[in-house]
Amino acid sequence: MAGMILDGKALAAKCKEAVKKEAESLARKPGLAVIIVGNNPASRVYVNSKRKDCEECGFLSEEYALPEETTQEELVALVEKLNQREDIDGILCQLPLPEGINEEAVLMAISPDKDVDGFHPMNMGALLVGKEGFLPCTPYGIMEILAEYGIDPKGKQCVVVGRSNIVGKPMALLLLQKHGTVTICHSRTANLAEVCRSADILVAAVGKVDLVTADMVKPGAVVIDVAMNRNEAGKLCGDVDYAAVREVASAITPVPGGVGPMTRAMLMKNTLLAARKHQGQ
Ligand code: NAP
Repeated sequence: MAGMILDGKALAAKCKEAVKKEAESLARKPGLAVIIVGNNPASRVYVNSKRKDCEECGFLSEEYALPEETTQEELVALVEKLNQREDIDGILCQLPLPEGINEEAVLMAISPDKDVDGFHPMNMGALLVGKEGFLPCTPYGIMEILAEYGIDPKGKQCVVVGRSNIVGKPMALLLLQKHGTVTICHSRTANLAEVCRSADILVAAVGKVDLVTADMVKPGAVVIDVAMNRNEAGKLCGDVDYAAVREVASAITPVPGGVGPMTRAMLMKNTLLAARKHQGQ
């Protein structure tokens, strides 16, 4: 029997509805500032969808579209100005930034209490030691999908393929926090197929079409596909050979309609959380 589809799109709509309701109860509406530098078409799509999400949730949304030749100093100055604004609860700088701008320096400039992407080392550190902070939206969204479908990582073999700071590493930490037994794989992992086959919960976050094939998946495993790739036909797809793996897995996220919409919804949730804190509510 084909595995159950973990419907991130439907869950994201539910989450955003709940965020909207909660936001209405605040004295001041949550505010999100999004900075985009240069003309990366994918970044433009992401920023547009963030604006739409803010509208849906009843948030104040401000967009700063800066030219490609913006300097790091100018960008940091804008972030510092937004750090001071009382009506702005979250600041997000769309990555990647043009060459010549040090991403780390810009992310570090965002005040940790407005870092709704959860990329500031203060928030990353909080996650590492199990303290409260903003969680990076993609792994946060995946944990929400697992919870919604009653999939408990406790005692399970969890394999995360990919070790980026924004997806793989925080994903591994969140699964560990929920008492999973976690293995992290990357480009130098020997016997990737064998390690993947040991997983009860397999998370693929690499960015390579058909990296995870059906023979790499344990029968009955839960498979989470984070990636957003284009195949040869230009169609959006993940890292997982979806049709074949669905026949082996007990549950699987589709691409599109799985992790992506939940990432967006968690940005709204983090912005609401920031607004609550700023308003002492
Ligand atoms: P990234 O920074 O490029 O990291 C990719 C990771 O994959 C690296 O750790 C790399 O290992 C590992 N890797 C590369 N080739 C591999 C191989 N053959 N076998 C095993 N591991 C391999 O990417 P990212 O930012 O984490 O994003 C990963 C994917 O998720 C991308 O497709 C991105 O578009 C997508 N994404 C989706 C969402 C969403 O909301 N759905 C959000 C963020 C990202 P090394 O560390 O050894 O180089």
